[in-house]
Amino acid sequence: MMDEAIDTTDLKNLAPGPRRLLKRLRALMADQDNAQKRLDNLTGMIAEETGSDVSSIYLARRSGSLELCATHGLRQDAVHNTRLQHGEGLVGQVALTAKPLAVADAPKHPSFSYRPETGEEPFTSFIGVPILRGGRLVGVLTSQTTHERKLADGEIETLQTVAMILAEIIASGEIIAPEELAGLDVRPTRPDRFQGGAFSPGLAIGVAVVHEPHVSPVRLIADDPEDEEARLDIAINELRKAIDSMLDGNRLPFGGPTRDVLEAYRMFAHDRGWLAQLRDAVRQGLTAEAAVERVRNEHRARLMQAKDQNFRERLHDLEDLANRLLRHLDENNTDAGAPLPDNTILIARSIGPAELLDYDRSKLKGLALEEGSASSHAVIVAKALGIPLVGQVEGALDRVENGDTVILDGEFGLLHIRPTEEVREAYADRAKAISRQAAAFARLKDAPSISADGQPFELHLNAGLLVELKRLEETGAAGIGLFRTEFQFMVSDTLPSVVEQAKLYKAVVDACGDRPAVFRTLDLGGDKVTASAPAMREPNPALGWRAIRMGLDRPGLLRLQLRALIEAAGGKELDVLFPMIAAPWEFFAARDMLEAEIARAEKYGHKLPKKWRAGLMLETPGMAFAIDEALPRVDFVAVGANDLMQYFFAADRLNARVSNRYDILSPAALRLFRSIQASCAVHNVPVSVCGETASRPLEAAVLLALGYKKLSMAASSIAPVRTLLNGLDVEKLGAWLACRLDNPGRTLRDELMKAGSDAGLPPEAVDNSPLI
Ligand code: PEP
Ligand code: MG
Repeated sequence: MMDEAIDTTDLKNLAPGPRRLLKRLRALMADQDNAQKRLDNLTGMIAEETGSDVSSIYLARRSGSLELCATHGLRQDAVHNTRLQHGEGLVGQVALTAKPLAVADAPKHPSFSYRPETGEEPFTSFIGVPILRGGRLVGVLTSQTTHERKLADGEIETLQTVAMILAEIIASGEIIAPEELAGLDVRPTRPDRFQGGAFSPGLAIGVAVVHEPHVSPVRLIADDPEDEEARLDIAINELRKAIDSMLDGNRLPFGGPTRDVLEAYRMFAHDRGWLAQLRDAVRQGLTAEAAVERVRNEHRARLMQAKDQNFRERLHDLEDLANRLLRHLDENNTDAGAPLPDNTILIARSIGPAELLDYDRSKLKGLALEEGSASSHAVIVAKALGIPLVGQVEGALDRVENGDTVILDGEFGLLHIRPTEEVREAYADRAKAISRQAAAFARLKDAPSISADGQPFELHLNAGLLVELKRLEETGAAGIGLFRTEFQFMVSDTLPSVVEQAKLYKAVVDACGDRPAVFRTLDLGGDKVTASAPAMREPNPALGWRAIRMGLDRPGLLRLQLRALIEAAGGKELDVLFPMIAAPWEFFAARDMLEAEIARAEKYGHKLPKKWRAGLMLETPGMAFAIDEALPRVDFVAVGANDLMQYFFAADRLNARVSNRYDILSPAALRLFRSIQASCAVHNVPVSVCGETASRPLEAAVLLALGYKKLSMAASSIAPVRTLLNGLDVEKLGAWLACRLDNPGRTLRDELMKAGSDAGLPPEAVDNSPLI
């Protein structure tokens, strides 16, 4: 795999004796001496066991330099005085490359840097290995001799093994007390701030919990290396079998890695280089767990330096694979993990909507994703649950550890890790301001939905979970514009029965009272998977067999759902929306099924809805072009802007790299919206917009100006959108847009913000600057 050559100039023989060294190391850890004394003893011990004249430990300081913290063989007064920069001298080279370096004649090496205070000149040979933890460099361990020497087999590995143990025991505070770690970069302690995307509003202050955390071994040094090797072999076999069965069975794990990733795992799990590295580390005297950690650290350190995104991707795969191997090594298979703190802020690379729903919602106060995009379903679920979410904070996982204090600012997309006192105080003030604003928004719930120039509009709620129904009252929404029925399937391990479905839909109907509720039929597929339906092996699930395509090809499930909806409606009105319609015939077929179910209910004497309507969810450009053909049989249209824009721009809504690349406020996209609205007006069919676009005040204003009088959005967006629309001069914005939509251009956003009141916008539309 990543078997890079080590610089091994001719060196004389040296006895590694790793196991004895590790045993002595264990005894040293039990000593009661102070930190410095222990480090000094450690360097003495390493020198003795490796037959070298010098052994030194350099630790990384937060400033970025490497400080000589202990030495056997160099001058003692250099300790804590000699500091080297990354790249400076041979030690700096090791730090820079995060790779071992062995040199026969150090003073002649081009990178040699002479530091008179260390008295280093008589030493000829040099071996340096990085001290790595979680793939981050925390220091450098060196061994030097006066005479030239040949590199013995396994010598570098011995030092790497010692370095790995050193990193863990330093970080654990066993050898250096936490207060003495203050200036060192052993575990991240500095405040860090990440600017990402503000995907779900709100502010959370809490404790970091890493989703699928990097598991650190508890036991580092083996009692019996043969036993450890046997344990390692068993675990590797189990790992291979588990991967094979995930791949070969007809179901991929729920919310787990994709098929491509599993194929990569299978390749790694059979990679000879990787296995040899693991075995070598165990033969050196490490426990199997510590061996996994050591090898992972080394790969991680190298991959983290890679500029190429693909290498960084591999890093995540290897990380996950190492965690899986560790789980196989854990005889008790304690998958449960520690209980969640009450104010958990979850930090993840990415997360599926179903995985997110697995967390205890009462404890989850915020979510930060290294990836993610504004319209991904995890974001939609977070919004539904009222959990603030910040996305695209790349690198956050490298800087955060479980238990760190974290502030998550979902208003401005900020993530503060280990914030300073000042930032905390500033946020305490912000929290008060936000709750004042929330109170003000709450008072607005009965405000009329009418623009500054007297044009009425309707704001509806997007929902999918029972807990959201109370938001109807809280927000004063006009109804439910989109009820995502698949959420119920996603949170359930078994397929919900007709009775269970009808119960949920009835709860929605009841919560709505006189307000309308639009039920979207199952929209599974893409990133929405359920435990109860077989996961599809598809090369591109977003373009695959999803939503209505499934519903029409396997009509059983859709029929039962329609039956449950008819029953839940009782004598009230029923609005059914069919998702992902790509051609008129799909809508007609779905409508026919609804008609057939109504006829069936009538035949069996069931109570019929007072009135029923079949809606077309417009989410594909193909359907937008064929809309005039479908409209005569359509009762209402809901534009699913998330998917429509994904397909319009051919930019995966889940892929952070492309999801922000194009702007819905571009003339081309807005022309599409304009033409859909115009067709619906001609056919006199009501049309609304749902999807995340409608929940952004500026976009909502533009949609209203294009003639969309009904918008449906997450609960948290209703008050901010209403506030803006109340201050909007719709006609003025319409006129401003009219003469720009047919122009070429990448986006109208900047021009629109600049125009402000000249385009009919109220002042709050342009005030969007972060406070901290
Ligand atoms: C959409 O695509 O805009 C939409 C509302 O549906 P979903 O986000 O559930 O795909
Ligand atoms: Mg959609």
